[in-house]
Amino acid sequence: MGFHSVLTTAQRLVAERTPPGSTVIDATAGGGVDTLFLARTVGPGGRVYAFDVQEEALARTRARLQEAAARGSVAGALGEATLLHAGHEEMAALIPAELHGRIGAVMFNLGYLPGGPGGASPGDVPGPVITKPDTTLAALDAALRLLAPGGIATVVVYPGHEGGRDEAAAVDAWIALLPDETAQALLYRFPKRPASPYLYALEKK
Ligand code: SAH
Repeated sequence: MGFHSVLTTAQRLVAERTPPGSTVIDATAGGGVDTLFLARTVGPGGRVYAFDVQEEALARTRARLQEAAARGSVAGALGEATLLHAGHEEMAALIPAELHGRIGAVMFNLGYLPGGPGGASPGDVPGPVITKPDTTLAALDAALRLLAPGGIATVVVYPGHEGGRDEAAAVDAWIALLPDETAQALLYRFPKRPASPYLYALEKK
């Protein structure tokens, strides 16, 4: 059957430790798959903040949430979602101060929006919409500060494309320097597929 994908594994790790009613963050809304997953996980009493720098990504995410809400009785009720057209490196400034230290989960899915204007599909124009090392590391620092003790951050890293390789190296180095007292770190990776995405998970202490 094969092992679970990195994206499925990220969701499973989050679902296992995120009770209904939690406040959580999708740091890279993209197509909205994780935003919808988080909205389902936290349920009606919970709240999701989703960040993206691309209006196109937020529109796709909004559409996905609306579609799921319209199918409500099958899918279960969704938590309230706040979509923020802003970089995740600004999350500490944009998430209300009273929630700092109380966030249950932060999910990152790095790289570019497939099929988006910065995507790598034929005909796509490369744009500034790929996640970048400096802002990614700033956001990871902020995420750790916002998390509650026992909260989880997941980071899906894409080493298989040009800019992605540098970003993956930057995240690897950041994890290597992360003090053991701050968080427990997990790496989920397919070593025979070195160009495939891999997952870090951090549980804040
Ligand atoms: N690589 C994944 C999808 C990642 S989508 C896949 O293949 O399925 C990554 C999203 O991050 C994109 O929608 C992009 O617009 C967004 N992004 C880029 N820089 C960002 C930043 N600084 N803050 C928040 N989102 C950002």
